[in-house]
Amino acid sequence: MLAQLGAAAQQAGRNPSDITLVAVSKRQSDEAIDAALDAGQRVFGENRVQEAFEHWGGRRAGIADLELRLIGPLQSNKAQDAVELFDVIETLDRDKLAIALRKAMTATGRTPRLLVQVNTGEEPQKAGIAPAELPGFLARMSGEHGLQIAGLMCIPPTAEPAGLHFALLARLARENGLEELSMGMSADFETAIALGASSVRIGTAFFGARD
Ligand SMILES: *Cc1c(COP(=O)(O)O)cnc(C)c1O
Repeated sequence: MLAQLGAAAQQAGRNPSDITLVAVSKRQSDEAIDAALDAGQRVFGENRVQEAFEHWGGRRAGIADLELRLIGPLQSNKAQDAVELFDVIETLDRDKLAIALRKAMTATGRTPRLLVQVNTGEEPQKAGIAPAELPGFLARMSGEHGLQIAGLMCIPPTAEPAGLHFALLARLARENGLEELSMGMSADFETAIALGASSVRIGTAFFGARD
């Protein structure tokens, strides 16, 4: 997988070390996770808090340079658990959650990096801030909630070319002065890297099929 990322970076004229491979370990076996760790992989994504604790609660203490990222929806009542476990939370998408995260960060003394999920396709069933609402939302994050935002994340609609959505997310990040861009999965990471992804979230192409 690293070789494929390197090739995609080179194709795009980018430095491979500017792109983080997030290995998405949801619904993968303990054996697969341990093999990834043995191979030196250190950045992992999970989409459910409960499952992430099952995978990482017992493992993380022994691995100083581990980075865990939440890439799935977060309920406000799980904010404290999420802040305790994750180093990056990529799915901040509403004020109620911002309030809960602020409280959890104060209570735990931990400060995970935060990304805002953007609903680039404005799909009613999908989480995320609509592009037009983003500047106001970001202003409230720093102004009202005291939260610093590191970047943006998106999951494009399945029926549309992903590149349109990646380009939109990159433009929104640029316009709002944000550095981190979490975009691209197994099927479209090359396109995401060409359009400026700082991290790609790779599940099946890294681990193989999920349970
Ligand atoms: C599962 C998941 C991925 C990984 O998907 P693959 O197609 O297996 O690479 C990436 N991002 C999110 C938000 C996911 O839920």
